This record gives sequence, structure tokens and C-alpha cells, in this order.
Amino acid sequence: MSTTPTIGVLALQGDVREHVKALADAGAQARPVRRPEELAEVDGLVIPGGESTTMSKLAVVFGMLEPLRAFVKAGRPVYGTCAGMIMVAGKLLDAREDQETLGGVDMIVRRNAFGRQNESFEAAVEVAGIPGGPVEGVFIRAPWVESIGASVDVLATYGGHTVAVRQGNVLATSFHPELTGDHRIHAFFVDMVRAAA
Ligand code: GLN
Repeated sequence: MSTTPTIGVLALQGDVREHVKALADAGAQARPVRRPEELAEVDGLVIPGGESTTMSKLAVVFGMLEPLRAFVKAGRPVYGTCAGMIMVAGKLLDAREDQETLGGVDMIVRRNAFGRQNESFEAAVEVAGIPGGPVEGVFIRAPWVESIGASVDVLATYGGHTVAVRQGNVLATSFHPELTGDHRIHAFFVDMVRAAA
């Protein structure tokens, strides 16, 4: 496999452009993915931040829900940020009733968990596996991980709450590294995609 993997950014809704740029800076070929045919062409997928209820609805409308679930189930690498973390959760708290998720990480995620106290904030977060000191965590109406199954690794906590996890080839963060100039987490994901290929 080439050392430049092709990584898609789910482009139904959310901050797609920032992820495309961060992935390109981190050494991947990055492109937006909207349709099942486009999903079939990528080695890995980022699910951006945005609004998970809208993303879930649009995934159904665009016929992407089952292809996305199959992608995750096949063990293809996926990285979800914020709303994307919500999308890869097995279960949700404070979700809309008909909100769909893809699964991928055996965890319960609480939507808008930090939001009720503080709509949006930044904090230094130490992330396991990311060398060079803490990353700048940008939290925007961010979820946290309320509980995890035995095969999930916690990579970061903030204020006593889990904010970054990995299970197999699925990575998720409550915060938005694509909004900072620091692309170490994207580089970590690009390496995950290389290793999986
Ligand atoms: N609160 C949003 C949701 O539930 C996520 C916010 C974000 O992605 N910045 O989808």
C-alpha cells in the first residue's frame, strides 16, 4: 500500500473543509464523501463535528446509514470528532428519539454534556499515543463518554470525563483538533489507516 492513504471526510453536514485540510497536512489524500460509491473508494473515514441529529437524518436520506455501518463493521478505520464521536457510539444519552448511530465503539456517549455548563471552551488535553505534550482541545457543545466496554481504550480525560477513546480501528474525540493548527491527532489517524491497509 502506498504511504499516502486516501481518507474520506463524511460530507453530509459539519466542518468538512477543516478536516480535509488537516488530513492533507498530515500526509493523506483527503476528499469529501457523500455517496456509497465514494465511501467504497477510501481507506479510512473522518466523521466531522457538526450536529449529530442532522447528520443522522441526512445519512438516512442519502442512503449512507447502512454503507457506513458496514464500513465500520468491516474494521475500516474511522475517526469521529464531536458529533462524529456521537455517530460512532453504541448508545447515546440525551439523544433525539429517532437518532441513529453507526456503532463501532462500545461506549455510551452523552450529547451536549459539557455544553450545559459551558457552551464552548478550550483546554490543554494530554492524549495517550500523541507525543510532544498536550493538544489544544476545542470543545463546542461537546459530548463526553459516560461509560465504556472492556475492549475500549481511554486515550484522554478532561475534568474527570473521558474525551478520547479508541476501540480497534475506531478513534473518537469530544473535541475538534481540525480547528487548531496542530495536526498530531490527524497524523495519528493517518498512521492507523496505513497500518490497517
Ligand atoms: N452537540 C452536537 C451534537 O449533538 C455536537 C457539537 C459538535 O460537533 N461541535 O451533534
